Amino acid sequence: MVALLILVISAIGLVNPLLIKVVFDQVFANVDGLPDDERMRLLLIVAGLMILMPILSGGLGLWQTFINNVVGQNVMRDLRNSLYAHLQHMPLRFFTSTRTGEIQSRLSNDVGGVQAVLTDTASSILSNIAIVLSTVVAMAYLNWRLTLLSLGILPVFLVISRRVGRIRREVSGLTQESLADLTAHMQETLSVSGILLSKSFGRQSYEIERFRKENQRLSDLEVRRTMVGRGFFSLVGIFFSITPAFVYLAAGYFEIRNPGAQALTPGTLVAFTTLQSRLFFPAGQLLNVGVEIQSSLALFDRIFEYLDLEREITDRDGAIELSAGEVTGEVRFNDVWFHYDRAGTLERPDDRVWTIQNIDLVARPGELVALVGPSGAGKTTLTYLLPRLYDVNRGSVTIDGIDVRDIQLASLGDAVGVVTQETYLFNSSVRDNLRYGNPEASDEEIEEAARAAHIWERLDEMPEGLDTVVGERGYKLSGGEKQRLAIARVILKDPRILILDEATSALDTHSERLVQQALAPLTKGRTTVAIAHRLSTILAADTIVYMDGGRIVERGTHTELLRRDGAYASLYHEQFSDGRVESRCEDGLVLSSGEVVAEAS
Ligand code: ATP
Repeated sequence: MVALLILVISAIGLVNPLLIKVVFDQVFANVDGLPDDERMRLLLIVAGLMILMPILSGGLGLWQTFINNVVGQNVMRDLRNSLYAHLQHMPLRFFTSTRTGEIQSRLSNDVGGVQAVLTDTASSILSNIAIVLSTVVAMAYLNWRLTLLSLGILPVFLVISRRVGRIRREVSGLTQESLADLTAHMQETLSVSGILLSKSFGRQSYEIERFRKENQRLSDLEVRRTMVGRGFFSLVGIFFSITPAFVYLAAGYFEIRNPGAQALTPGTLVAFTTLQSRLFFPAGQLLNVGVEIQSSLALFDRIFEYLDLEREITDRDGAIELSAGEVTGEVRFNDVWFHYDRAGTLERPDDRVWTIQNIDLVARPGELVALVGPSGAGKTTLTYLLPRLYDVNRGSVTIDGIDVRDIQLASLGDAVGVVTQETYLFNSSVRDNLRYGNPEASDEEIEEAARAAHIWERLDEMPEGLDTVVGERGYKLSGGEKQRLAIARVILKDPRILILDEATSALDTHSERLVQQALAPLTKGRTTVAIAHRLSTILAADTIVYMDGGRIVERGTHTELLRRDGAYASLYHEQFSDGRVESRCEDGLVLSSGEVVAEAS
């Protein structure tokens, strides 16, 4: 359809210059000696056609532009969709090693940057070729010698355009990099955490200066990019503007030297130069297309660099779907080894690189397994392996005896719920944030979950209740409130298996108590793997695992481990001696409080 339109439009474009020849030769010069009424009729027809043709070609041109845009925008939309979907499936490893701003910049700036090529350049190639070819044919038909004279130099421009294109590609790559740097800088420093940091360290002027520098680099690059393109286009423009002079010069020269030998009527000459001036834009654009495409290739390179990245963690062929009702929730780690370097990049990982080594661990349905140990022991990392945020390097992790790598990721996600140390909330209403756990939850269910998580009373006090907007990353809420919301969110999700990265250490005693009260109904009936910094949470755990250096050093119940008087016992005594556990025992909050006090004393 577009091709047909293009052909029609370029054919229409030829009509007017050829009509000029008729007007000049037949009406004004009357070279064929036509009678006056015939000339008048011809004049009216030609004038009518000269009015009609531009209107027709204008209308068709508009239609063609519309189709071009729809097609181009559809390609852009698909590109954005697939890039976003691909990013959603990228492994956590990718996000921990890439700046968020860089990702955002590729998704918006780079995809946006290829728009011009998709909507204008690419689609106009055909129309420009059609115009150029038909015009050149018409010119050659009028006079082939003059055609050769006026177009002979074009190949030189082809060579120049390739050079310019290469420079543009390079500059475009640099520009997009700089734009990504700037976006990343903005994203990092203008987020709530970034602003908090720069304000509290009084580093605003430093950040402003850093921004200024990068911004200056970007604008310099943009100017360079534009000028490289413009400069070339001007060169083409100058060429096309001066060639009529050569055409007149040559035609005039031969006419004076050899009158009549060229069979050049004034009409032919005017029609010829008109056709030639019609060449300027399409030929200029065609020459420029190479340049534009080269520079957009730099952007495509950046987009495809992401699209070509391996998803790493994907569903295997024939992966099993865990049906929500049937999961019993037995979790096993079988001789699990893991390191953070990408699989295969290390030839022979030695002891130092293993973050997790030789872990064997069982959590039976409904049990609470607690992970304790010094910072950096690998507790969080171990829990990452269960929902496949990373895959094990050796050994296996199973749910109900099925290797997690054989379970469909979507159903694995349904079966495992995570309450992370740092609570992430979207900047929308409390209700929307809670519904993230279960999009179908009714207001009653939300209230029930909020009550169970001991956050309902607080929400009730807020004038807008569930409609309260939590602010960027939940900054309008206190740490404890955010955590209780996160707990309510998981209650709504109702997973069989729960991973709890305890973060109560950051809270005051009152909030901590509320959070712990919220946790009690959450862990009930679920297989729970809890990372505990405060031992009070896990005294009643079925198994307590003490990790150090990625290995399990001790395991047993609280009583057994105390009796053993090893690493766990000293950790316990350390916390016990500062009085925290004691005070909570008096509150009756610690499930095995009697035992604790008895053991301790
Ligand atoms: P904490 O109690 O302080 O949270 P943890 O026991 O949970 O500590 P992990 O977060 O599992 O410890 O970290 C274990 C080790 O792995 C640490 O030495 C850490 O530096 C390293 N590590 C964590 N995340 C990454 C990562 N994305 N890439 C490389 N190394 C990492």
